[in-house]
Amino acid sequence: MCGSGESSTGKAELEKTEIIEIAREITKEGPICDNCLGRQFAKISSGLSNDKRGAILKEVLREKGEEVEEGKCWVCNGLFEILEVWVSKALEKLKDYEFDSFLVGTKVSGMLLENEELIWEIAGASYAEPLKAELNREVGKRIEHETGKTAEFERPDLVVILNLWTEKVELQVNSVFIYGRYRKFERGIPQTRWFCRECRGMGCERCNFTGKMYPESVEELISGSIVEEFKGEDMVLHGCGREDIDARMLGSGRPFVVEIKEPGRRKVDLRMLEEKVKEENKGKVEVIGLQYVKREMVAKIKNAKAAKTYRVEVELKTRIKEEDLRNAVAKLSGAVIEQRTPTRVVHRRADLVRRRKVYSARFVSFEEPVLFVEIKCDGGLYIKELISGDGGRTKPSLSEVLGTETEVKELDVVDVDMDFYLEDRINNEDAS
Ligand SMILES: [Zn+2]
Ligand SMILES: [Zn+2]
Repeated sequence: MCGSGESSTGKAELEKTEIIEIAREITKEGPICDNCLGRQFAKISSGLSNDKRGAILKEVLREKGEEVEEGKCWVCNGLFEILEVWVSKALEKLKDYEFDSFLVGTKVSGMLLENEELIWEIAGASYAEPLKAELNREVGKRIEHETGKTAEFERPDLVVILNLWTEKVELQVNSVFIYGRYRKFERGIPQTRWFCRECRGMGCERCNFTGKMYPESVEELISGSIVEEFKGEDMVLHGCGREDIDARMLGSGRPFVVEIKEPGRRKVDLRMLEEKVKEENKGKVEVIGLQYVKREMVAKIKNAKAAKTYRVEVELKTRIKEEDLRNAVAKLSGAVIEQRTPTRVVHRRADLVRRRKVYSARFVSFEEPVLFVEIKCDGGLYIKELISGDGGRTKPSLSEVLGTETEVKELDVVDVDMDFYLEDRINNEDAS
């Protein structure tokens, strides 16, 4: 009873006078394939595929003595007869890419859109499924069958686009995202590519025709190995804040997400990749704790509030007793700093007063005239000015507390502490 019972119910629904009348009108326009006829009634008898439904309708019409013309379909122009051609074109494109999931989309040509409008004028669109939807599904099913991969609406690795205008298959390869932390052991390296201010990347005398302000960046240093392993086109680094170019990034490193564009591979062994990056950048940069994440992590990283810990080498301009230094440093611990935009950046940033907290300030050592301190503070606090006082624009400052001029000689970031919520999310997130 089961199978035949189902289809006879389907048939009964299609035998209603109203439906038969519409089907008759459609077939009078010219030859139509089973898919295109059946698709106009997709919302009726849902247990059937469009082509089955179309075949039943034709049978019913013939039983009633109607003449149903056979020939090239006037709606799809024979498209559903050559699905396999589209499937082969898609498979040909897909063979160069590693993927688990995909989605099929169609750019419908103007002629087919017109035909569809025409048939909806005759049949009404209330029971119909669009041509595009059926095509996507049918090609998708065949690709699933051939590749064993899954068609997926949300976050497919690849989007297969059937372009009916050009008769070509296009691929949209979605990026791979990886979270990690980087350490930078050398000064003078910016985080990302920095185009020359003079020529904006075109190359000029100022930049020695490199188009860049600095010969290398963390982004460029790590991208070679990463792009190569993923067989990607390009890589972009999104950092959770950035350290000064002349500061090293030590300790636990700075969180980042890299986006690998148009990757041919999506499943690279990340421990191996960490080793490779390290190997190729001996002593300059390394990446640690790499893990696969979703696209949303980029925005999370960029908006994350992170406390920073700095190791600061301070130069003293006058002789001061160690005990006074210890006391002065202790006074900064826990202080809320009112900081007016530093003189050195006020030409490119709004001039306003920010309040930032110093969570801890620790005396490390003193080798006359150099003092070493470790400071943990809110992100966005300018450390050089916390020390120098910037002519009274930062209050309090080490210079102010000591009553004498002090200046940062060297600066390293030793930790970037992202809000716990975010770290927790990253660690528990299913990275698929
Ligand atoms: Zn058709
Ligand atoms: Zn230039």
